[in-house]
This record gives sequence, C-alpha cells and structure tokens, in this order.
Amino acid sequence: MGTVSKLSSEPAAAAASAAATTRAIGLAAAGRAYLALTTGEPPGLDACVTCPPAAHPGEDLLAALRDASSRPRIRAFGRDEGYRLEDATALVVAAPTPAAAAELARWLTRRVGRAVLPITGPLALAATFAGRVGFAPARPRYERDAAGRVRVEAFELHVAEHCNLRCANCCNMSPLVPERTLAVAEVAAFTTRMAAVLHADVVKIMGGEPLLHPDLPGVLRVLRASGIADRVRLFTNGLLLAAQPDAFWEALDELTISSYVSAPVKPATLELAHARARRHDFVLNVKPVTEFAQVLSPRYESDDARTAGTYQRCWLRHRCLVVRDGRFYMCTRAAYASEFLATVAHEPATAPLDRSRDGIPLDDRDLAGALEAYLNREEPLGACRYCFGGDGAAEAHYQLTRAEVAAGVLSRKLAVVR
Ligand code: SF4
Ligand code: SF4
Repeated sequence: MGTVSKLSSEPAAAAASAAATTRAIGLAAAGRAYLALTTGEPPGLDACVTCPPAAHPGEDLLAALRDASSRPRIRAFGRDEGYRLEDATALVVAAPTPAAAAELARWLTRRVGRAVLPITGPLALAATFAGRVGFAPARPRYERDAAGRVRVEAFELHVAEHCNLRCANCCNMSPLVPERTLAVAEVAAFTTRMAAVLHADVVKIMGGEPLLHPDLPGVLRVLRASGIADRVRLFTNGLLLAAQPDAFWEALDELTISSYVSAPVKPATLELAHARARRHDFVLNVKPVTEFAQVLSPRYESDDARTAGTYQRCWLRHRCLVVRDGRFYMCTRAAYASEFLATVAHEPATAPLDRSRDGIPLDDRDLAGALEAYLNREEPLGACRYCFGGDGAAEAHYQLTRAEVAAGVLSRKLAVVR
C-alpha cells in the first residue's frame, strides 16, 4: 500500500476513523437499508444495503452498495456527485453466523482492496464515506519509498487506444483517436523503466477497449515481470468477453466490467464472467453505467483562479497516471490533449498555451526526482485550461454517431457552442 493513501496517522484522523467504524457497525447490526448524508461541508455518506439469502451474497451486497453510493442516487439529496468505494472510511459486513461473516469479509476485502469488518446479524453491508463530494480527498505529498520509488495509487496502461464503442464524453477520447495498440515489447520497455522510479498499488489496463489487443496474456506477463504494481486490474466494456480464450481468464487478477446503458453487456456474458471469476479466483466487479461526466471543454478558460481550483479539486491526477509517446502524465486528459485540441477545442487560447511541462520525458536523467516534483506541483497543467477535471456536469450516457465523431464532437451538449 502506498504512502499516498495512508492518511490515518494523525490523532484527529484516527478518532474520525474510529467514529466512522462505530457508525458502520451500528448500521450493519441494524440490518436495514439506510442512506443519508452526514453533516459538514462537503458532507459524508452513511450507507447500508441488505439482500435476501443468496448463493453469492457478497456479489449482491457489493453491487447494491455501488448503486447506493452512485451519482444518480446521491442526486436525490441535492448533491451532484457520487462516492467512490475506494474512499470509504469504514466497511462492515453482517452475516448470520461468525463463519459466514468472516468468509464474506474475506471475499469483500479482496474486492474493495481494504479491510472489511465482520459482525453477526442479518445479511447487510454498511459503509461510511468521508465528506468529499466534488473534491479529491485530502492527501499528503507524494513521497519515495526505501527503494527511491515514488509511491502512487494507480498507474494506467492503454494497451489499445481505439474502441469498439463511441461513448460520448469518453475520458480517453477513444472515439477521436486513430487505431493503435501497444506492442508487448514496448510495454515491457517502459514499464521496466517506470518500475525503477515508481510503484503503484494497482496497474489499470484500459484503453480504448483493451480486449482489442491481440496478446493480452503477453501484456500481463511483462507487466508482472516489471514489478511496477502490487495488483493488475483490467477494465473492459465487456462486449468481447465471451470470445476470450482460457489463457485470458487464467491471467487475470482483477476484472472490472463497465456495462453501459447504451451498450449493455449481455446477461449470458455476465454469467460467464461470474463463473470464470469463481473458477479462476480473480476479483470481478461489474459496474452499471448510466451517465458520464463531461470531460473537456471546447472553450479556453482564461481565469487563472478558476483553472487553479479545477486542478486542486481534480482527483483524476491521482488515479489516472499514464505514459504516452515516451512521456509520463499525471492524467489521461493531458496525455491526449493534442488530439483534443486539434479536433474538439474550437476556442483558441488567449495566450500561448504552454503544455511543454504537462508531462515528463522518460529519458530524464533524474526521472525519480522529476516525477516526485511533477506529482507534487501546485501549478495547474496547460491542459487544465480546457478541462473540467472532476467537476464535469453529468450527461446521460449515449453513443455518438460516426458523423458526430467525424465532426469532432465529444459531447452533444457542448457541441452546441461551436
Ligand atoms: S467503452 Fe466507451 S468510455 Fe470506454 S474507452 Fe470505449 S468509448 Fe471510451
Ligand atoms: S488536465 Fe488538469 S483538471 Fe484535467 S484531469 Fe488533468 S490535472 Fe485534472
């Protein structure tokens, strides 16, 4: 676990964490569905979900908690931002017997990547979330470990930049970028270089659609050999899952399937994925997605204070770190800004847009030092002038037409200002 995500050494944080755990225990012990914002600005969230006895209650409880804390549900409280399970301050699961509770806690701990406390009671999963709506959680500076590597939460690998869908507001602009896959040798070269200076809790294999890559088991093999991360998680829209060979399923640590409302994964494919997860013992998360946040603005933001605020609140710069074209970027939006500026941005910068320091070249002679300074910088990136960061308005999820993509549209709502 990286230094960056350890926040509880301060006495006040420890007390808050103890209070959060006590509340979560109370919610789980009550065994009733519950959802309420807590006091404070921004407010936290207390949630409890239940399920009837089932063959796999952990799967049902986890899906219910993801749904309860999602942006559409929270909007009923007048807040337009969801809570992320990774940011829960306490998680407690209840089951009728101590053995069943312990087994469920073990299963859930592996899926959410943090400790889940078992108690006895009717089936229930309770969570408390810190007040972070719309804001990145407070975090200490990035630091190096004993081996001199900068510790980070997550590092992304875009093995195929193109996609078999054309989602509006795609964070990585896949509908707008040309077909491109990373060769296994290329992945091996830059992950080995990065592993000497950076260590991540998790590497996220994404795209585009990663299942369009011709040799995913090969990618997974070189990734593990590099030692860049503790865990490997693959994200997919699921449409090509049914055709995957045994070697694919056997190579997985974690699989997240985003099932988009505009292109849902077939129930039979989800059943297959669940069956494979049980057989090959990998972590499976299925995320139904009904809306996306707007990503990038066609308009240049000239106000320095607004740009600085967007950057400070932006959680993506801590979770979407990526290497592209020989440079390391703190976020995918900066990595793809050239494509975006060439196709979607229609309002030019009022001053020269300096993006020369938006990323770091991997051949920097002091790459670890450059990385540490870059990740800790207070100054926004040039790309932030065209970016909503984590503040983007929600839009119902939909697919763009080919004509819209050809016209450089990433969002119909934003396209009207062209
Ligand atoms: S599935 Fe949609 S959001 Fe994901 S990479 Fe493809 S186009 Fe983008
Ligand atoms: S460009 Fe700036 S605001 Fe946008 S995701 Fe990157 S760091 Fe955040």
